[in-house]
Amino acid sequence: MDKKVVLITGAAGFLGSHLCDRFISEGFKVIGMDNLITGNLKNIEHLFKLKDFEFYHHDVSNFVHVSGKLDYILHFASPASPIDYLKIPIQTLKVGSLGTHNLLGLAKAKNARMLIASTSEVYGDPLVHPQTEEYYGNVNPIGPRGVYDEAKRFQEAMTMAYHTYHGLETRIVRIFNTYGPRMRLNDGRVLPAFIGQALRGEDLTVFGDGSQTRSFCYVDDLVEGIYRLLFSDYPYPVNIGNPDEITIREFAEEIIKLTGTDQKVTYKPLPKDDPMQRQPNIDKAREILKWEPKVNRAEGLKITYDYFKTLSDEELYSKEH
Ligand code: NAD
Ligand code: UDP
Repeated sequence: MDKKVVLITGAAGFLGSHLCDRFISEGFKVIGMDNLITGNLKNIEHLFKLKDFEFYHHDVSNFVHVSGKLDYILHFASPASPIDYLKIPIQTLKVGSLGTHNLLGLAKAKNARMLIASTSEVYGDPLVHPQTEEYYGNVNPIGPRGVYDEAKRFQEAMTMAYHTYHGLETRIVRIFNTYGPRMRLNDGRVLPAFIGQALRGEDLTVFGDGSQTRSFCYVDDLVEGIYRLLFSDYPYPVNIGNPDEITIREFAEEIIKLTGTDQKVTYKPLPKDDPMQRQPNIDKAREILKWEPKVNRAEGLKITYDYFKTLSDEELYSKEH
């Protein structure tokens, strides 16, 4: 029997590369696509020797062509860390809007099912806590984070429109802060920032007074949730994340303990529109997907720290973002 074919955009990135691994291990033929703007081929180089893996170096904001049959599309291409999308705001808007449109068109032409990577950022700085899928969000469209948040909100709207008006099979995952091996050390997100600082013997930079909260999900749990969502029949958004909420100040203390560094915490100004609290309500995922996270923060952080310890000094001290 012919293998099912899945196209994964953002394949050379953190989440995309883990998804490629999962689909390969499940016996799919995987086509990875990426323009490498924030990704790294190192994340998928182990797949290049496989006959079931193919890579297209392509910017999905331009017309996307894939020959042959396609059964599934997972659209994960997009800068994802605040410093990335602040540096490339227009590309961020384009990949969420034009890129999504191109891929929906491809899905329609191929009669493929499409899953998009949305985000907890669609809730903005939320006034409802924890966040349920019914909450419409509190987003500043013209603030610095608007380029990401609004691209993702548009992406959801466009995807629902293809579902409603063209009958396309679509899935929407709202991903909450996820961490694990293959995050980029200098991508500015809080976990690689803190671990990098600890490894270099620098103080850990907490933004604001550190009372803002996040809820961190280990990457394997997220991938399992996405896999189940893709094969469910539920077309509406589903939160996937770990509800174990922590303040950023406490998180810094956990990293100090984990790494055994002698460094302290230093405080820097809170970036504009930085959400003050974030915690997923995962009742829908529990009910519809029979999913919940399995890896607790202590386990997940240990695996992630062990990964970062294997990086070379050149990578550790690189100023490149
Ligand atoms: P990442 O930066 O590691 O990966 C994104 C990948 O997309 C990179 O390899 C990049 O080169 C590629 N890309 C960007 N623009 C592209 C374009 N126009 N054409 C082709 N490729 C392009 O980020 P990530 O953390 O792996 O995030 C992946 C997806 O998940 C993103 O859509 C992001 O919005 C979403 N997401 C991630 C998180 C998280 O906690 N990691 C949370 C919410 C949502
Ligand atoms: N943060 C911090 N120090 C850093 C990097 C981030 O205190 O060096 C804070 C940031 O202000 C935010 C939280 O950590 O409140 C999570 O930031 P991240 O960029 O990882 O993700 P997001 O804000 O998109 O959830």
